[in-house]
Amino acid sequence: MKNLKLASRTITERTIVNVGNVKIGRDLVVIAGPCSVESEEQTLETARAVKKAGADMLRGGAFKPRTSPYSFQGLGLGGLKILARAREETGLPIVTEVIDPRDVSWVAEFADVLQIGTRNMQNFSLLKEVGQTGRPVLLKRGMYSTLEEWLNCAEYILSEGNPDVILCERGIRTFEKYTRNTLDLSAVPAIKELTHLPIIIDPTHSTGRLSLIGSMSMAAVAAGTDGLMIEVHCNPHEALCDAAQALTPEIFGGLMRRLRPLKSFLECDNERSAATYAENRSAVRCDNET
Ligand code: PEP
Ligand code: MN
Repeated sequence: MKNLKLASRTITERTIVNVGNVKIGRDLVVIAGPCSVESEEQTLETARAVKKAGADMLRGGAFKPRTSPYSFQGLGLGGLKILARAREETGLPIVTEVIDPRDVSWVAEFADVLQIGTRNMQNFSLLKEVGQTGRPVLLKRGMYSTLEEWLNCAEYILSEGNPDVILCERGIRTFEKYTRNTLDLSAVPAIKELTHLPIIIDPTHSTGRLSLIGSMSMAAVAAGTDGLMIEVHCNPHEALCDAAQALTPEIFGGLMRRLRPLKSFLECDNERSAATYAENRSAVRCDNET
């Protein structure tokens, strides 16, 4: 792909982004939490639940890019402080969105990973700003963007000196209205052909439907995703944002119990995962098992 100097698959081995002990690009990494930080109680309760279910990182928006200016816009600094408390209690690293270039340096003091949302994928001044922080960046695909445009945005961040970019496919706009967006699962193997950067899937915003999140998460693992970002809320019916597609901690727990064995199953030929597979063989049968 022309113009890719630093993001191109050809220039280096696969990038592994380290966030504390979490290795994105090596293990199946699950990021879970509420759409928005609404209160300390809601965030801590959800954080404890996703940790218990086996999530690796906590998500939660303190700055929400909403379609309507009258919708809940997030708690800002107050939200970041709540996230920091949740990290302190659970040990889970924090992923949170930054929407304004002027906020990047101080938001980076709270966040372990800075998220760039779909609506800001081509906000080039924001990309340059996050490229100058020492924080990994989770770059969501613009809902109207091609893979080439997306990778050029990763290139903006890399070219500022920040090597830690994680791509996140979150669905694109098509004529289909049943789902909120159309999850482009082919992005997983395609991105792996084009770049050394890790890619994760967001089944929540791509489907917008609770009933589809489990199967799309499983499909993403089968397609080779490096991780998933899933919205979970301790009381979904009370959520201030994206209530319709937030998983309860119970449903999330059930999904987690299926995801890890599937990953091990897919890697059953791979020596590294042989031990994990052996542990999980009762949960998923391997066809070539004798
Ligand atoms: C989010 O993950 O909180 C979010 C707003 O997602 P997106 O930018 O993909 O709509
Ligand atoms: Mn959301």
